[in-house]
Amino acid sequence: MIQPGRQSLRKIAVVGRGTAGSLAAACVAHLHPDLDCELHHIYDSGIPVIGVGEGSWPSLVQQLQQLTGLPQTAVQKRLHGTRKYGVTFEGWGRCDQDFTHHFTPKNRSYAYHLSADLLANLLHEGTRAQHIDAKVLNITKVEDGAQVEFDNLPPECYDLVFDARGFPRELDPDQHIDISFIPTNTAIIRRCPAILKPKQGKPVLQHTFTRAVARPHGWIFVIPLTAHTSYGYIFNRNVSSLAEVESDFDAFLEKDGMSEFEHRSVIPFPNFVHRHMYDGAVARIGNAAAFMEPLEATAIVSAQLQIGMVLHTRLNRPAEHLERDAPVVNRFLVNNSLCYGLFVGWHYSCGSSYNSEFWHQACEKAWPRYRKAADPEVVNCTALRKFDEMIGLLNQPAFRDVDWKRVCAVPLASYIQISRGLGC
Ligand SMILES: Cc1cc2nc3c(=O)[nH]c(=O)nc-3n(C[C@H](O)[C@H](O)[C@H](O)COP(=O)(O)OP(=O)(O)OC[C@H]3O[C@@H](n4cnc5c(N)ncnc54)[C@H](O)[C@@H]3O)c2cc1C
Repeated sequence: MIQPGRQSLRKIAVVGRGTAGSLAAACVAHLHPDLDCELHHIYDSGIPVIGVGEGSWPSLVQQLQQLTGLPQTAVQKRLHGTRKYGVTFEGWGRCDQDFTHHFTPKNRSYAYHLSADLLANLLHEGTRAQHIDAKVLNITKVEDGAQVEFDNLPPECYDLVFDARGFPRELDPDQHIDISFIPTNTAIIRRCPAILKPKQGKPVLQHTFTRAVARPHGWIFVIPLTAHTSYGYIFNRNVSSLAEVESDFDAFLEKDGMSEFEHRSVIPFPNFVHRHMYDGAVARIGNAAAFMEPLEATAIVSAQLQIGMVLHTRLNRPAEHLERDAPVVNRFLVNNSLCYGLFVGWHYSCGSSYNSEFWHQACEKAWPRYRKAADPEVVNCTALRKFDEMIGLLNQPAFRDVDWKRVCAVPLASYIQISRGLGC
């Protein structure tokens, strides 16, 4: 296949070796296997990766098969994975009943619950790249490409740089859209023994779901892997103290029959979308591009889209279109992340079975700010209009064929399931 942009992609850098950087390096190596394209994979081994990110969406199953050349069962085993068919919500909304958000088609489409560390290792195995362990100070667009400045090495120029350096240190309103209508900002991660174990080395084929359990201070995820079960309490440190949350976490695990657990980490996080994800030479991806709490596991699937869009346009469009293409791609990616943000924030709009300070703040204070935060005049994209259209469709008595094709980050089928489950 003729790829008119290929000539302008001779030297590529990926900065960061977390899930997003590892995926980007693997995609570049896969799409660009000729030996005359240089790929530098740069990371600072002194800066740890986040290392959580254990839920995914179905598109990852196919992509990992393509990137590794391994059958799905082999990939699943390598990841200590289970098959995720959706998310079950316990105690959310005003209906007082548990419900499930299935991937569609229901009970056929599945993703992985996976170990983030093992995913990075699996991706590195098939990636031909020069590895550079160094701290990057700056990545800037220059004439004909991007320049990477290092702490202790001379600067280097590239045709394209993927910036996968993780969360920004602080949010800057000129750079970041603040989406704190999502009311949480901290996670406590614990690890418990596996509930599901492979028998005779065979992968676990039974259907599994991420559990999202509402609690007085937020919610708890439960992710079953074959080596351990991952638990995370997601809350707001400005509303609840760490001690209060730890205590409720203990009570929950005891009720869940988990008498032993390992403390893993406490992770503060921002909820934001970067306004400048792609300028033609520098592509921010993963947690450097956008982040929102993990209620619908939107991070890896967003990184897949960011990497895919950038590589696809750079390879398949002639270089002279670059300056015109970049803002279009950027707007599409910002819009998509903001749509995910609105979808995730909406889950809090009907409260939960708890009448606590956290749920009062989430429902009455945080969520109502979404219209101002996503105002098209401020964010320069149409996410709010798309979201409003989805909510409008939910109020119609019947759906037309064309409606089922509508997507606002996720398809109409997802909006219907959440709306019925929450009772809104
Ligand atoms: C509690 C929690 C649960 C989550 N659950 C899910 C989930 O279920 N599903 C999902 O899809 N996502 C989930 N995520 C999101 C998850 O964080 C991301 O999917 C994933 O880890 C992407 O991270 P990253 O690669 O962008 O950044 P990181 O993992 O932070 O990696 C950053 C990399 O950049 C390098 N680096 C940083 N600064 C420099 C520098 N100056 N110079 C050189 N190198 C540098 C670091 O060494 C590191 O290699 C969760 C996140 C949290 C906080």
